[in-house]
Amino acid sequence: MKLDATDLRYVTPEEFRVLSAVEIGSKNHEIVPTVIIVQVSKLRNGGVNKLLGSLAKRNLVARVQNAKYDGYRLTYGGYDFLAMRAFLKRDSLYSVGNQIGVGKEADIYLVADNEGKEMVLKLHRLGRISFRAIKEKRDYLGKRQSASWMYMSRLAAQKEWAFMKVLYDHDFPVPRPIDQARHCILMSHIDAYPLRQIAEVPNAGKLYSTLMDLIVRFARVGLIHGDFNEFNILIQRDSGDPIVIDFPQMVSTSHQNAEWYMTSNPVNRYFNRDVECIRTFFKRRFKYESSLYPKFQSTKDRDGEEHFRLDVEVAASGFSKKEQKVLEDVGDMKISLFRGLTVVLSIWKRSKLLSQTKVTKT
Ligand code: ADP
Ligand code: MG
Repeated sequence: MKLDATDLRYVTPEEFRVLSAVEIGSKNHEIVPTVIIVQVSKLRNGGVNKLLGSLAKRNLVARVQNAKYDGYRLTYGGYDFLAMRAFLKRDSLYSVGNQIGVGKEADIYLVADNEGKEMVLKLHRLGRISFRAIKEKRDYLGKRQSASWMYMSRLAAQKEWAFMKVLYDHDFPVPRPIDQARHCILMSHIDAYPLRQIAEVPNAGKLYSTLMDLIVRFARVGLIHGDFNEFNILIQRDSGDPIVIDFPQMVSTSHQNAEWYMTSNPVNRYFNRDVECIRTFFKRRFKYESSLYPKFQSTKDRDGEEHFRLDVEVAASGFSKKEQKVLEDVGDMKISLFRGLTVVLSIWKRSKLLSQTKVTKT
């Protein structure tokens, strides 16, 4: 979705009040009844309808007519707008430039502050499909169920923000966190290419061990990245040193909730997966193989050696265990959806094979 920054400055204070009223109303209503928008915005009835019309024209809200009543819901565009406005008001953001990344669950833009300094804006977008599934099964969201896509996207941003801050403060090679609002994060722009785009490196062995050391360094402070792959490792253009991004799936090494993992020690699996990603990529891309790679066991404290725990620090920073759990459940649901699809596909394939066999027999 395109972000329109010029539009940001041309929303009147009254339109903004109506937009905020829709956001507030959507905490309890999937479709916010117009009467509630009128009540919350404390503006005249007729006036509100007109303002809603102009917001809907710019796709900041969407009109929904259902059997019981007419109302509006906030769109992603509207939610983006509210976050951008918060950044603008705090002077952390001034202009929005090109989109530089489209992920499954985030849009990335190049933006600038009022001195023209480049930054990266990440807008988290957790889709709606997984929430339908989660809604049927879980009741964590309570009354918030109706606003779950907004809530979940915000949680993902809060989690990423909490991790990025703690990691940056402890000199891990991550972007500098600048600001966070709703589902958005502002961070420093890294002048780099994702490892994925790199055909050759001067010393594959050196980069390999730097990355493995990093996985170990994470684990020694209680963290596993969980998605440590060639897309989330940026290689800086000048130094060739790696910077790691993308933290919404980070787990604590004391994490035990991973029902879908087959082994008795899920943490091991998370850790091994990160290690395996790097090994596979280096073999394929740089034809580099090493018999040396870290094992989770070896990252544990030896001889009563005490380490500070960043997972504990993150939890203390305000991003609670409960919030982490909500996010993890979305991940789990997606995996079960994927598994469900795989089962359906394999049944379909088998039935196709059977019917083909019948044809050849006759
Ligand atoms: P997603 O959740 O969609 O994978 P990422 O945080 O991994 O989002 O970002 C997607 C892409 O955007 C990255 O692969 C990278 O190319 C670019 N990107 C993200 N953050 C930065 C940054 N701070 N500096 C430069 N490029 C970035
Ligand atoms: Mg990524």
